[in-house]
Amino acid sequence: MAEKSGRVFSGARPTGRQHLGNYLGAIKNYVALQEQYEECVYCIVDIHALTTVETTQNLRHNTREMALDWLAAGMDPQRSIIFVQSHVPQVVELHTFLSMVTPMGKLTDLPTFKERVRQQPHNVNYGLLGYPVLMAADITLYKAVAVPVGVDQAPHIEFTRELVRSFNYRYDTDVLIEPQMVVTEFPKVIGIDGQNKMSKSLDNHIEISATPGETTERVMQMVTDPARVRRSDPGNPDVCNVYSLHKVFSSQEEVDMVNMECRRAGIGCVDCKKLLAKNINEYFAPLRARRAEFSSKDGYVNDILHEGAARARKIAEGTIAEVKEAIGLPE
Ligand code: SF4
Repeated sequence: MAEKSGRVFSGARPTGRQHLGNYLGAIKNYVALQEQYEECVYCIVDIHALTTVETTQNLRHNTREMALDWLAAGMDPQRSIIFVQSHVPQVVELHTFLSMVTPMGKLTDLPTFKERVRQQPHNVNYGLLGYPVLMAADITLYKAVAVPVGVDQAPHIEFTRELVRSFNYRYDTDVLIEPQMVVTEFPKVIGIDGQNKMSKSLDNHIEISATPGETTERVMQMVTDPARVRRSDPGNPDVCNVYSLHKVFSSQEEVDMVNMECRRAGIGCVDCKKLLAKNINEYFAPLRARRAEFSSKDGYVNDILHEGAARARKIAEGTIAEVKEAIGLPE
């Protein structure tokens, strides 16, 4: 029985096979929220992806791969609505209506927009600027009461709340709901380079659905305490990313052992990594087995995404009808 009433909404871009950072930072939380809220709406936001990707040839493949990881991780299509953003075109309609109450200056002032302009000066498109409006449409279309976000996304939710107030005030209605932020302390997972946040584009990631061999290979490449040059040098686990991951995937006993033995050169980095790889593989074994089973069933993922879209469209159609009525558009 859910503790909290109402709907949760969250979306993620179709980035293909998910890595440890995606899993620990988002997917685990998505699974847990299913127990806490009445209904969760999880959307693969392919339209958002168009604001930054310049080639779309992998979009379908990446959507399927990501959905497979989501489902295998325990995001449950019986309890949650799992679907693809572009399968519910009403979101584009609501985006347009919301854009009429969006001051331009607000969009150009958002730190995320400025950051994107710095990252892709050759491709500053309108979609990039309107991205937060589309995000507001995603959330409000499903009348979500809560949106799980990291601290960096907080300005976008605040922006959504302002848009809702503006819209409701302009059209003298209460049709749109102001969502609450559920600020979650997403752990920042560092990549195998030991420096940057884990990310596919930096190729410093470990995929959750990798084979045991691939996982071990990636773990063995991990950068450790740079001051520990020889096996006989004592190390400092506090500056080592291998140790950070042990804290997630290993037993308390093993974590304590690594912490102690590393400091007195009682364990070498190779053995320490082998232990971590073994534990990561054990942790994900059930997920990987489920994934293989889902993947082998013809049309399984597509059917789930299409059923999810049908449920999402039902809610969306209702909201759009109310929105048009509130605006006073001709019948
Ligand atoms: S023994 Fe383990 S924790 Fe210590 S530096 Fe090597 S990999 Fe890192």
